[in-house]
Amino acid sequence: EKLFSGFSKTRDNLAVIDELLLYWNLADTDRVLDELEEALLVSDFGPKISIKIVESLREEILAGKLKSGDEIKSALKRYVLELLTSKANKSDLQLGFRRPAVIMVVGVNGGGKTTSLGKLAHRLKNEGIKVLMAAGDTFRAAASDQLEVWAERTGSEIVVGEGEKVKAASVLSQAVKRGKQEGFDVVLCDTSGRLHTNYSLMEELSACKRAISKLIPGAPNEVLLVLDGTTGLNMLPQAREFNEVVGITGLILTKLDGSARGGCVASVVDELGIPVKFVGVGEGVEDLQPFDAEAFVNAIFS
Ligand code: GDP
Repeated sequence: EKLFSGFSKTRDNLAVIDELLLYWNLADTDRVLDELEEALLVSDFGPKISIKIVESLREEILAGKLKSGDEIKSALKRYVLELLTSKANKSDLQLGFRRPAVIMVVGVNGGGKTTSLGKLAHRLKNEGIKVLMAAGDTFRAAASDQLEVWAERTGSEIVVGEGEKVKAASVLSQAVKRGKQEGFDVVLCDTSGRLHTNYSLMEELSACKRAISKLIPGAPNEVLLVLDGTTGLNMLPQAREFNEVVGITGLILTKLDGSARGGCVASVVDELGIPVKFVGVGEGVEDLQPFDAEAFVNAIFS
């Protein structure tokens, strides 16, 4: 329900497609597809995906495989669903067998990183998983306090760095060591998120990742990139850059309860081949849902 209402703007932008398809006939195909492409662009699908979708539709229409507006609409939904799932189908967490599993959560400030990490801890704890949080955002003054609130709220243990100049990689190492010694199942690592164009952030994130894999070969098991679902196509260069530096294994899309801009998700998933694992639909502890591509497509196209 929250997802559906969060996408009301995207749905409004795409509603024109229903009108177009209602009166579609073969002779009118070029004009209808041009307008359909325009509607996809306005809904943040991005030029590459919009053209790809429209050209696939044109091919099927000209081959006589789509004979009505309804069939075209179904094919459109099917393409978007395929874009979201074909290259990136592992949408559940891949934690491997070794314990503790380590999950790094990365993303730019304000995107919902710390909140998502807290909500994820709640989900894991509900599944009986023993979670240790690591306050790896040593740059933003209030970040550790905020994470401590989430630790309390979710009944999780937490490792916080001591001293002013403590390095993120050292806090995360400390947490992973404690995780191993005390038999935790998952270590959830928060990280800094000052502007993604800041070179030293990327250096810091690689150092964090190296520090973790030094202690547990193969870890981190997941590097989840948190993307603000209201930012539209800006999320694409962000995702590219984080992926180049730390190798993203999954996406968490936040703020989908607000005025989310849905189309760009298909662009990110298609270009980078990274699955969406969770969606954030509010600020509460329960407001993190596993990604359901079909529900997502139904929320975008009414
Ligand atoms: P960080 O800087 O990336 O760690 O971002 P925060 O976790 O501090 O979140 C920034 C703001 O976004 C806070 O006010 C959060 O409550 C809010 N927020 C995070 N996720 C969601 C979400 O899914 N929905 C809504 N409505 N707000 C969210």
